[in-house]
Amino acid sequence: MKTQARVVVIGGGVVGVSVLYHLTKLGWSDVMLVERSELTSGSTWHAAGGFHTLNGDTNMAALQGYTIRLYKELEEITGMSCGLHHVGGITLADNRDRFDMLLAERAKHRYMGLDTQIVGPDEIAKIAPITNLDGILGALYDPLDGHLDPSGTTHAYAKAARMGGATIETHVMVQETTQRPDGTWNVVTDKGTIHAEHVVNAGGLWAREVGAMAGVYLPLHPMEHQYIVTDEIAEIYERDSEHPHVMDPAGESYLRQEGRGLCIGFYEQPCRPWAVGGTPWTFGHELLPDDFDKIEDSIAFAYKRFPVLETAGVKSVIHGPFTFAPDGNPLVGPVPGLRNYWSACGVMAGFSQGGGVGLMLAQWMIEGECERDVSAMDVARFGNWISPGYTLPKVIENYQKRFSVSYPNEELPAARPNRTTMMYDIFDDMGAVWGAQFGLEVVNYFAEGDEARYETPSFRRSNAWEATAREVKAVREAVGINEVQNFGKYEVTGANARDWLDRVMAGRVPKPGRLSLTPMLSHKGRLIGDFTISCLSDTHFQLTASYGSQAYHMRWFEQNASDGVTVRNVSDALTGFQIAGPNARKVLDAVTRDATDLKFMDVRTMTIGMTPCLVQRVSYTGGLGYEIYCEPVAQRQLWHTLWTAGQEHGMRPFGMRAMMSLRLDKFFGSWLSEFSPDYTPAETGMDRFIAWSKNSDFIGRAAAEAERATPPDRVLCAFEVAVNDADVNAYEPIWIDGTVQGFCTSGGYSHHAGTSIALGLIPRAHAAEGQMAQIEILGEMCDATLITTPLYDADGEQMRG
Ligand SMILES: Cc1cc2nc3c(=O)[nH]c(=O)nc-3n(C[C@H](O)[C@H](O)[C@H](O)COP(=O)(O)OP(=O)(O)OC[C@H]3O[C@@H](n4cnc5c(N)ncnc54)[C@H](O)[C@@H]3O)c2cc1C
Repeated sequence: MKTQARVVVIGGGVVGVSVLYHLTKLGWSDVMLVERSELTSGSTWHAAGGFHTLNGDTNMAALQGYTIRLYKELEEITGMSCGLHHVGGITLADNRDRFDMLLAERAKHRYMGLDTQIVGPDEIAKIAPITNLDGILGALYDPLDGHLDPSGTTHAYAKAARMGGATIETHVMVQETTQRPDGTWNVVTDKGTIHAEHVVNAGGLWAREVGAMAGVYLPLHPMEHQYIVTDEIAEIYERDSEHPHVMDPAGESYLRQEGRGLCIGFYEQPCRPWAVGGTPWTFGHELLPDDFDKIEDSIAFAYKRFPVLETAGVKSVIHGPFTFAPDGNPLVGPVPGLRNYWSACGVMAGFSQGGGVGLMLAQWMIEGECERDVSAMDVARFGNWISPGYTLPKVIENYQKRFSVSYPNEELPAARPNRTTMMYDIFDDMGAVWGAQFGLEVVNYFAEGDEARYETPSFRRSNAWEATAREVKAVREAVGINEVQNFGKYEVTGANARDWLDRVMAGRVPKPGRLSLTPMLSHKGRLIGDFTISCLSDTHFQLTASYGSQAYHMRWFEQNASDGVTVRNVSDALTGFQIAGPNARKVLDAVTRDATDLKFMDVRTMTIGMTPCLVQRVSYTGGLGYEIYCEPVAQRQLWHTLWTAGQEHGMRPFGMRAMMSLRLDKFFGSWLSEFSPDYTPAETGMDRFIAWSKNSDFIGRAAAEAERATPPDRVLCAFEVAVNDADVNAYEPIWIDGTVQGFCTSGGYSHHAGTSIALGLIPRAHAAEGQMAQIEILGEMCDATLITTPLYDADGEQMRG
């Protein structure tokens, strides 16, 4: 066995071999995979082998499309068969919400180039004649759906990797991973130690245990899962062609032809986690005992939906475990806090996602970044607050919701409340309807009187409408208050703090007492952060950005660390409030003896009531506003001071729903909607914050300069949209002159202007005031007009005056 390799991949399931293959494909051949048993010995060997593109996250859906198309390539390269059955598949909808979800998916697929179709009951009867159509409204047909041979596919990946120079060692068990002082790794196995520059954890069912060898907790958990293969069914084997897949979300089942019978699997509600205390090393090529009790209701439902099942005998039952992360997406990328340690685990649909995971990880390792935004599967999307106590209930919830409708405004209840601020009980008493961000309870809006304390999940306008309208009105006409806890905050200190910021941020680093807005760019010039820099002194800065990106930001800061500068994540060590609206200054005047003559983008320390605070004049609501930061222990006192003073000025608390409506009035982008690694500064207008004249070779400068010289084809624009009861959410196609020419990044209703707004990327040639377009929202073509004048404070008088 080799004792040295550039990369050691631990685990020979479908994910490990895909990573190995993609590393070779992108040019690294000194790569090695070690597997404690035979290839496929974890979840992989007993998978049903189904694949499909449907995924609530658009980038994940695109990567699933990549994975499915890859199988032909593997077959061609290796001459091996993946056992592909491209039979197509339908996902049924038996109620309006499920149908809305399919309409939204279909719309997204248009600009992604995925050729799905909405079909009605008559067509369903032709495609999948064994389906009882009672109550079925329609379905989404995807010609790419199909299934394959899990073992053949894994071996095809392995052969392709070997052809690219990779080594695979089976029956080699990794026992320890220890880091050397130079950052390289000793991978200690039962057959000797391998010295590697990089380690990839693709341990699948044992990924938790493999992670623990490096002192890492990876938030995933195995669940038991069962599918049944039937005896022969005449209605199936007498057909001229193979029966396509049928996903029935109402019955939480997936069904396909297997030989001359059917195979049907369930995501049952009375589901069971497996190996709560850890996956035994003794578990191998074995199955769990059959358990018909837990799928009794699912089977009864399936008999109604597919009556041929009722008389079919059971040929075999496959019951095995596989892993989920708390939100069901994979855990991929550099593990925060460790150098050269990569995660490729938590992949619950290895045959839909494995190829995309392998490609993204290989790009990340070799090229330093991925070609698209992979936030949805980045291992850094969970912070260091993550624990097994959180993961387990979330994984159970995710399993149970696997086939449920995912609504854009949905807040899932498991493992909550988890992290709360000092304001939790006060806001709760005031009617807060809560959401969760990065584990933190955040107010979405405040219900009043007998309004429900629960927002109806919907693709259309929800019951938060009235409350959001009230809160927007207060901010636009008087003053609103909301917490600033859910901002990511970083303290940057040291003699080299300014120089470091000048290198890491593309924008201007402000003078003491001032703020600046800046994009943070990747080496390839993509947007990887959207920051406010507050200069407290030449050696002391505060950064604010998206709360959910803390682990991502800190990983980047650590990767780009410098002598003479210290970066501390103070997201939860600093809290406070923002007050926004025309009366905000009056409130500030009433609570401090300090001068309140802050100009737009000023920052200074002030005493508010009894509390020393950092106050900065800036506002995401687009008008006059102040952010006031204090320590958490002082937050309640600060609240009482501001709230008491605010009463005579019409103060109301507001939540995230109002904030997202208010920002639309000014066409302000939001992180991971308008601004994300999928986009560049010039595409999104963030280039106006780049300090071209600064004397610093900031990260991404060359790429940004190149883009400046040759402007991109597409640009971000705002549209006013004529809608019925559903506003733009994200990724709806934008049609111009009868073809899809762009897509929406986000949208919503401007309660202030009384109109529906969409933000989206379209070809530069069309980006002119008054350009007409149509936006496809839930199957309806809605007329849209490009607008360039903000709907509130167009001259900036309120914000800057
Ligand atoms: C019943 C069932 C049906 C399924 N159906 C489908 C389906 O239709 N479609 C689909 O896409 N997915 C399906 N899945 C899920 C699919 O099986 C998984 O997504 C996939 O197998 C995950 O692959 P992996 O490589 O991440 O993990 P695994 O397959 O678990 O592989 C991990 C490997 O790492 C090795 N390993 C672990 N620790 C060490 C160590 N210390 N040293 C060396 N080697 C080590 C293990 O031996 C194992 O071979 C199903 C799962 C089940 C249980």
